[in-house]
Amino acid sequence: MTTLSYTTIHSGYKLSPCTFEKRSRTAAEYSTQPCGDVWFKTRHWKTERIVNEAKALQLLAERTRIPIPKFIQCGQNDDGSMFLEMSRVDGIDLSEVGKKCQEPGGMRHNASGKCNECKNIAKANAEHFIQTILLPELAKLRSNRTGLDGFVLPPAWMLEYDTRSHWDVKTSSREEFVFIHGDLGPDNLRIDPDTLTVKCVIDWEHSGYFPSGFQKWSVDDSDYHALYEDHQTICELAKSIEP
Ligand SMILES: [Zn+2]
Repeated sequence: MTTLSYTTIHSGYKLSPCTFEKRSRTAAEYSTQPCGDVWFKTRHWKTERIVNEAKALQLLAERTRIPIPKFIQCGQNDDGSMFLEMSRVDGIDLSEVGKKCQEPGGMRHNASGKCNECKNIAKANAEHFIQTILLPELAKLRSNRTGLDGFVLPPAWMLEYDTRSHWDVKTSSREEFVFIHGDLGPDNLRIDPDTLTVKCVIDWEHSGYFPSGFQKWSVDDSDYHALYEDHQTICELAKSIEP
């Protein structure tokens, strides 16, 4: 039973009471939108990124205690699009917290409008979560090969600047590569609206094993977007994963 479905330029989504499904879009779907052909050409690995996330969810569930959506199934639709079904985790994305007061613990900070106090509480909680739970758990996962299971899908913040469509796997004599989220910003930290603590880390499309310098993140919207603009760092990191 689907209760809600919607699309963005790159993905389709379906929500049922207990499940959440994400799927890639086909060339025909892109072509129905303004500039759809441009979006289609610049979005590499439409189906591979769904598979990458499916593999990551299973790996993380098996080997870490990071709160993530539960993997249900992944497969290909008749139209060639790839889908990933997972458990539904409700909440508010960190980027959305502060649009109104969430009254954490029954405490109301202001009568109406934006609430910076809620935003700051949620950001501090998210930072603490990343430092004390997420990063130590990810640090347990190491490999001597970049990417995940033979496929390299670099972080989101790298791909607007470095637009190559294929990355070879780099191998090392030691397990120097660590598992990274790849898009660890306020849009992908789901917050419990009552406690303002992190409930779930979502959207693992860009995850995989990379040098530790790739483990970039921020709980602040503008600081996170600044990663996309730091072209010197992007170039250095890109070079470091060329075999
Ligand atoms: Zn508030």
